Amino acid sequence: MRRQRDNATTRSIAVGGLARVEPRVWRGAMPVQFLYTAGAAGERFFQTLKRKGIFTATHCEECRLTYLPPRLYCERCFADLSDTWRDVTPVGRVYTFTIVHVDREGGPLSSPELVAFVRIDGTDGGLVTRLLEIAPEDVRIDMSVEITLAPPRKRRGTLEDILGFRPARSVAKRPFTRR
Ligand SMILES: [Zn+2]
Repeated sequence: MRRQRDNATTRSIAVGGLARVEPRVWRGAMPVQFLYTAGAAGERFFQTLKRKGIFTATHCEECRLTYLPPRLYCERCFADLSDTWRDVTPVGRVYTFTIVHVDREGGPLSSPELVAFVRIDGTDGGLVTRLLEIAPEDVRIDMSVEITLAPPRKRRGTLEDILGFRPARSVAKRPFTRR
């Protein structure tokens, strides 16, 4: 209770902006365990990717929106979309991109990586992914790209199954065969 009262006091003074409050620190260990799940829609998305090498999306007929990543409810009209699954070929277009020179710890990368937001054809969504097999100076906004997946036996049903997207070679040579 003592601690709660202290925090309340600190907050009210800070809001007033009149008094300078020293930051307070409580040192200690906090054991935290968690399990992150992709959710029902995300799980189906990743299992489809793992098994068939394609994307799956949901569709709201009313709003004419195709959700990728899939949503179980329409974000506009709240319609139930759980029976609206459709297969989507994992090809798309570069919407925007950047060149990454440092890793997550701020250290330099041995070679810069290209990261892009790719809009997926036939949907209203897309994903952030790496661009592969292309030099930074050759990337163009709106260029067609296709997925590069981990080999089937190495897929685990996670985002890491998607190695990235590479320039689309041709419509005839797609990265998977639809069954
Ligand atoms: Zn809707």
